[in-house]
Amino acid sequence: MINDKLKRSFEYLRISLTDRCNYRCSYCMPKDIFNSDYKYLRKSELLTFEEILSFISILTNFNLKKIRLTGGEPLLRRNIENLIGKIKGLGIDHVALTTNGALLNYNKAELLKKNGLDSVTISLDSLKCSINRKINPHSNISKVIDAIYIAIDVFGSAKINVVVMKNINSQEILDIINKFKNLNVEIRFIEFMDVGETNEWNLEKVYSSESIYNDISRHYTLTKLVDEKNSTSTKWQLKNLSAKVGFISSITRPFCGSCNRARLSADGFFYTCLFATHGYNVLKRLRSSSSELKLKNDIQDIWSKRIDQYSVLRKTHRIGNDRENKIEMSYIGG
Ligand code: SAM
Ligand code: SF4
Ligand code: SF4
Repeated sequence: MINDKLKRSFEYLRISLTDRCNYRCSYCMPKDIFNSDYKYLRKSELLTFEEILSFISILTNFNLKKIRLTGGEPLLRRNIENLIGKIKGLGIDHVALTTNGALLNYNKAELLKKNGLDSVTISLDSLKCSINRKINPHSNISKVIDAIYIAIDVFGSAKINVVVMKNINSQEILDIINKFKNLNVEIRFIEFMDVGETNEWNLEKVYSSESIYNDISRHYTLTKLVDEKNSTSTKWQLKNLSAKVGFISSITRPFCGSCNRARLSADGFFYTCLFATHGYNVLKRLRSSSSELKLKNDIQDIWSKRIDQYSVLRKTHRIGNDRENKIEMSYIGG
């Protein structure tokens, strides 16, 4: 077990498997920037599954409990189920996947489940074509909804991520709840975050969790549930219904104090904060003659010196959101 300078232990790794995506959500990969001229990572620059596994196996020395596979769109990586099976083989308790759902058909879901995937989160921001076109010109709502039903069938439950932007989809919160309220889902409303430098974030566009909570509680009774330790979302039960709702309030109520996670980019950089500007090059060490022990010691050293708390500092105006070289969400995986 390793603790950082703020006594947060390292327990959770989010791995971005690719910086590419078949969707172009405006808050993540605006289509004018992420076009055919954009320089995506080349295949040779991506960590191979074997390299990812070598790194995870080193991290198992540190009480690593959970891994989330993300991206870009992680299901674009072929044979991801093989990677999942091998990660489970290393003894990781929980392996999760966040996907836009476009490629999640029944066969794929069953293959993922068979290989040990524990849970699936699917992103859906709108049920209306007109709004969805603005947020995500490439997405096919009915495919994403089908993927949610498939995930519930195969995994017993699903999480749904909804990024809420003021006056864009903030008026759809109740429609989304109405659509899924009788299913075993957790609908997580996420405040629009200032990740990266391309999504034209500003505070005016954020619709706060408090506003979302108020909108919901005018129509439903919400009962507070106990939040999992180190969870980023605060969870509530919709009374007499199957669905739960969660609020991820990184802007208005930052949760840096319990942040137990690190991130690995698709090209093998290890970051200790979503808003980091520099990472540690794992790929270079894995492809050189560095020993496993050296890599293990470096990670231990990096985590034990960690002082990241960007969202808290931004909220208290001790840091601006305008620092240069902020990494993009599609690169680091959220
Ligand atoms: N492509 C997959 C997907 O969309 O589910 C996985 C990668 S995506 C970067 C992971 C999560 O980050 C998604 O749920 C997405 O909605 C969320 N996300 C992306 N950009 C965001 C932003 N600027 N603010 C808040 N959440 C964001
Ligand atoms: Fe793609 Fe996910 Fe980013 Fe949307 S949020 S553009 S689906 S990586
Ligand atoms: Fe963790 Fe950084 Fe997000 Fe704070 S801002 S919760 S330290 S990733």
